[in-house]
Amino acid sequence: MTQVLGGFAALELHPNILAAVIATGYEEPSAIQLQSIPVILAGHDMIGQAQTGTGKTAAFALPILSRIDPAKKEPQALILAPTRELALQVATAFETYAKQMPGLNVIAVYGGAPMGPQLKAIRNGAQVVVATPGRLVDHLRRDEKVLSTIQHLVLDEADEMLKLGFMDDLEVIFKAMPETRQSVLFSATLPHSIRAIAEKHLRNPKHVKIETKTQTVTAIEQAHLLVHADQKHSAVLRLLEVEEFDALIAFVRTKQATLDLAAALEAKGYKAAALNGDIAQNQRERVIESLKDGRLDIVVATDVAARGLDVPRITHVMNVDMPYDPESYVHRIGRTGRAGRTGRALLLVTPRERRMLQVIERVTGQKVAEVRLPDAAAVLTARIKKLTSSLAPLVADAETTHGDLLDRLTADIGCSPRALAAALLRKATNGQALTLAEVEREQPLVPNSAPRERSERSGERSERGDVRERRAPMPLADGRARCRTALGARDGIAAKNLLGAILNEGGLAREAIGRIQVRDSFSLVELPEDGLERLLTKLKDTRVAGKQLKLRRYRED
Ligand code: ADP
Ligand code: MG
Repeated sequence: MTQVLGGFAALELHPNILAAVIATGYEEPSAIQLQSIPVILAGHDMIGQAQTGTGKTAAFALPILSRIDPAKKEPQALILAPTRELALQVATAFETYAKQMPGLNVIAVYGGAPMGPQLKAIRNGAQVVVATPGRLVDHLRRDEKVLSTIQHLVLDEADEMLKLGFMDDLEVIFKAMPETRQSVLFSATLPHSIRAIAEKHLRNPKHVKIETKTQTVTAIEQAHLLVHADQKHSAVLRLLEVEEFDALIAFVRTKQATLDLAAALEAKGYKAAALNGDIAQNQRERVIESLKDGRLDIVVATDVAARGLDVPRITHVMNVDMPYDPESYVHRIGRTGRAGRTGRALLLVTPRERRMLQVIERVTGQKVAEVRLPDAAAVLTARIKKLTSSLAPLVADAETTHGDLLDRLTADIGCSPRALAAALLRKATNGQALTLAEVEREQPLVPNSAPRERSERSGERSERGDVRERRAPMPLADGRARCRTALGARDGIAAKNLLGAILNEGGLAREAIGRIQVRDSFSLVELPEDGLERLLTKLKDTRVAGKQLKLRRYRED
């Protein structure tokens, strides 16, 4: 729909990039995208400040891709990211947005993978290089010319990069690029160190800052729940079991997500439908009418599609995907609590979105309490309650209408009224799990706890071996690798000995070292992924308590 696409279409992106964005399902640019894209397209240096989750990647990827010449087989854009995970994420995003640009190649360059193929890909003409600073410096040592053709530089999550101690590496990298390049810096915060870099290496940068204004929220009960991104559907289904809603609107970010979630809900028997910008106007109106009159109970929508939606029946707003900014959060939850009724707003928060939650709390001046996922007992109680309330009204006169039939059936079958009632219940509940054991077994899902509280092995608890859980535990912070030494408590080792040795011999900053766990016969230490190889080499001959440390990367699977 041209009207809805107006946002991106008006930005003068390369037509093939625009086409890919549309194919991705984004309906309109986020605030940071709207403001940054014209600035970067015009070739200015820029400092962009916005919270996590506001869409910064596309804010620089789309204009830079629009300015790259795919016919030139040489590195033209360099994106620096603090960690391997983020570098991979950014590289994947570039690939998605460049899908319809034949001849455009992206290479991710990070520690922990062999250097040869990375260098080869750069030399073979990848136009976009996404790298962590440590590994890129390693490449520069081998070939000081690798960056000599770069015309666009992006420092993504600049504050994080400095926190991880990449200042010196950044200086080396700056020197290896042409001075005529465009430089763009994105950061959630702008501490003094970042301003200093900007002053030294950016030319007349334009500032783009997404301000967060204070908002007032009416009497809406708000709560949030921590989940992993790939457990959102199961979490939604579980929450719906116990939430007593009349009508509910669920917000997601993309058209595809509206379709996926609506389908998952329908499959569970909910009267649900999707609402997105692809759906024709008259069909949209029909969906809203159905929600109003109760033919539908749940609508899964994008922000754009739900604009102006006013349905008094809505008791619940579920923010399945995080809104881009506090304003749109306030806007979304304002869909409930209409006409003096109380409303309830639930927000799913993935680990990396916690900062956005804090911003929302600050801006609205309200705490959004954490709730847990209901456990099997709570689900069972809710199911029985629903069954009770659906049967209770029938009891009054069912005996008059069906009492004789009951007598006849019990006689014909030769069973007790209790046996017959039980059979009818089984039929009426359609195979739904209604004992604690059954409900527990049915769990498609997630242990009942926030991700940070889960033990590393919790995934293994589920009998069915839900693979997603096993992939999902979060033992490590972004950019950290776990290393193991065979020295432990029985060798007289304490955490402080390990810390001291690594700090002294490895030359790391204290913040670069994560958790240290000393067990009886071994110890685990979390170290920065980037530059890990170099660090381990440095520590090769280190001794602790008179014994060789022999620190190695530890793989738990
Ligand atoms: P940030 O870098 O600000 O933390 P990201 O660039 O990682 O945010 O984007 C967060 C998520 O939002 C990603 O999943 C991305 O695909 C999605 N996203 C970004 N821009 C849009 C948009 N205009 N419409 C819908 N989804 C978007
Ligand atoms: Mg980002």
